[in-house]
Amino acid sequence: MTADFLIHDADLVATCAGPGPRVGAAQNNISPVANASVAGLDGRIVFVGAAADCDHVVTLTPAAKVIDAHGCTVVPGFIDPHTHLVFGGDRREELRRRLGGATYAEIAADGGGIVKTVAATRAASEHDLVESGRARLADMLAFGTTTAEAKSGYGLDLVTELRMLRAIRTLAAGQPIELTATFMAAHEVPVEYRGRRADYVRLIIDDMIPAVASEGLAEWCDVFCETGVFTPGESQAILEAGQRHGLKSRIHADELGLSGGAAVAAKVGARSADHLIFVDQPHAQLMAERGVVATLLPAAAFFLKLGRFAPARMLIDQGVAVALATDLNPGGGFTTSMPFVMSLACFGMNMTLEESLVAATINAAAAIDRAGTIGSLEPGKQLDAVVINGALADLIRVGAPVIRHVVKRGRIVG
Ligand SMILES: [Zn+2]
Repeated sequence: MTADFLIHDADLVATCAGPGPRVGAAQNNISPVANASVAGLDGRIVFVGAAADCDHVVTLTPAAKVIDAHGCTVVPGFIDPHTHLVFGGDRREELRRRLGGATYAEIAADGGGIVKTVAATRAASEHDLVESGRARLADMLAFGTTTAEAKSGYGLDLVTELRMLRAIRTLAAGQPIELTATFMAAHEVPVEYRGRRADYVRLIIDDMIPAVASEGLAEWCDVFCETGVFTPGESQAILEAGQRHGLKSRIHADELGLSGGAAVAAKVGARSADHLIFVDQPHAQLMAERGVVATLLPAAAFFLKLGRFAPARMLIDQGVAVALATDLNPGGGFTTSMPFVMSLACFGMNMTLEESLVAATINAAAAIDRAGTIGSLEPGKQLDAVVINGALADLIRVGAPVIRHVVKRGRIVG
């Protein structure tokens, strides 16, 4: 077979090959191959296996790119299935205030918090949103992310929500990371609708969802289902309206309390329920029965100092596929790094290194409906990979510069 790209003779290739998502004990299996090579043609994988076999069966084109991966570990490109990477303004000052002891309520009373980001995003041009988003994506790429989900949800009015989604569309075409877009006007009730929430829900269902769908700007619809934000009933109505217009469902669920989000996810057949810090065993069972992926965001819990993480071990034991994401956002999401999130999964949620890798790759692919094309290294899939200097465990040495190469569709992009 012919190849125009070759990662040659890695100490280990963690292929994560096989059916995805991986649940239960299978989440601990990364399908490793020692002393292995990965070859691709036109951005797709044509060979994964022993380096000695590769030398016999693969013929390189004259212009082929070859990476000598001796001493390295190769893993699938990371997939970040929950981000808020497009927004206006800057709230890093709030981080300093929170560390100085200010509460979110105090910061919000001074005009901070999500209200500040909504005002800044409404004031930002599409060009501003694209350029600030592009810088965040470059950071993500440097940490090995090759595919990501990106949400609207800081406009909370039709014109700004559309502007955010158009910015995501422009970014998808203008840099290496593949993006899938989520419409999330149900991120918060905007200030001008406080006290008449039902009117805002109607606006989302009657005006915003049809407009987003008719312009083909989003693949997903998401809702923040939480006490004080959107109720389970409102969340279900919004997600079902999205489905009627071809938008698949995902949901922010049970982050601050057991508030019904996981139950809504199971009821509407959401692909993913995210956060889940307070999910219990009966709701985990419902998710397992309906094949809802649990996308856990330990960096959000860490930066918000919530004092607890989602019950990853319970979810895995109940047969729920666990994925990981950064929750990159202007408030409590101060990381673009999937390896850092994997470190938190291991040391904060007691996942194994192998479970965390599966959660950042094939299960994250399933969380955005891409398990057929990305998330593992096997023939026919896109050649999206990360070449790590050293062993797999080096990946979770927080802050260590261990990523040698990032490969997207068979090209070195970072
Ligand atoms: Zn979020």
